[in-house]
Amino acid sequence: MIEKNQFKDHEHVVMINDRKTGLKAIIAVHDTSCGPAAGGCRMFPYTSQMDALNDALRLSRGMSYKNAVAGLPLGGGKSVIIGNPATDKSDELFKAFGKFIDSLNGLYITAEDVGITVEDMEIVSSVTDHVAGLDNGEHASGDPSPFTADGVFHGIRAAVKHKYGRDDLKGMTVAVQGVGHVGYYLCKHLHAAGAKLLVADVNQAALKVVKDEFDAVIVPTDEITSVQCDVLSPCALGATLNELSILTIKASVIAGAANNQLATDEDGKRLKDADILYAPDYVINAGGIINVSAETTGRYDVNEVNKKVNNIYNSLGSIFKNADEQGLATNVIADKLAIELVIAARG
Ligand code: NAD
Repeated sequence: MIEKNQFKDHEHVVMINDRKTGLKAIIAVHDTSCGPAAGGCRMFPYTSQMDALNDALRLSRGMSYKNAVAGLPLGGGKSVIIGNPATDKSDELFKAFGKFIDSLNGLYITAEDVGITVEDMEIVSSVTDHVAGLDNGEHASGDPSPFTADGVFHGIRAAVKHKYGRDDLKGMTVAVQGVGHVGYYLCKHLHAAGAKLLVADVNQAALKVVKDEFDAVIVPTDEITSVQCDVLSPCALGATLNELSILTIKASVIAGAANNQLATDEDGKRLKDADILYAPDYVINAGGIINVSAETTGRYDVNEVNKKVNNIYNSLGSIFKNADEQGLATNVIADKLAIELVIAARG
């Protein structure tokens, strides 16, 4: 698979089958030219090892691109544990996982991702130092979500500036899909900036909080992407921007935190053709990894972190400008930039 498909430039892939604990996992290191490969660990009941491998390869390459464009001294990696997060977790499983991480001697730094909690990573960190995003410890940087939300807010400002020529968000309507960890903090920023909020979530309690605190208007989940608004901010699931949904979108700007928002790369071109400005997901949602990166250097300085997160405004501004000048979709420009940076780092 690695030979034949688009993933042939991965540096290192470890397939784990630990008989004692039943741990089945994959660690994929895409590139370490910029620094140790960093990226979270996902736990998911994949239906086959091939699906798990595909996910690990795709996500680790995405991390190389994200870290390179954010200018971080990190490469790209990702790990996946094959299992059900609700039923298959145990201390022994995470300790076994940690020992495999440790055996890579710092080539890969892990953290929590979908299906994994900070508590799980605390167990992993009992057997290896190569864990980030913890709540406790000398350089622990805690929940990355507020930093991700800050970056998304600056990204929305950059997109609004580019599309509408405006420096503020006063009176603009932003539709936020998903008001979880990132969505909540994003709504807080947008409300403070004078934006009107339309929100959707499957979690009624989360909706009530943003309705009460930020005057948000609740919209059904199946209508949020097609609602009349200035900015659509996907902060829940991946692949919400696809051939069908794009036909119904009324926003002229899409800028949100969710990973893998485009169902396929071609959907970036579809958005361009529909005159919708798309902020590439891995550029706008880099605030969290910027914060985690500061932890991995062992010199955590929140002012430095904030400076880098604010710079997402400029990074996106130049991607939008280059996309206009070259007549290409913004996701294509972001990928080109990321590949150039990774290749330059390889020397
Ligand atoms: P979260 O799980 O806290 O929030 C997601 C929210 O989406 C939840 O409230 C959930 O109920 C809601 N949701 C689920 N299905 C939905 C649907 N069909 N319609 C509307 N809402 C739905 O996750 P998060 O940490 O806030 O992350 C949000 C997105 O941003 C994810 O795609 C994540 O991968 C991405 N992301 C997060 C971070 C971070 O720092 N947390 C960093 C980078 C990217």
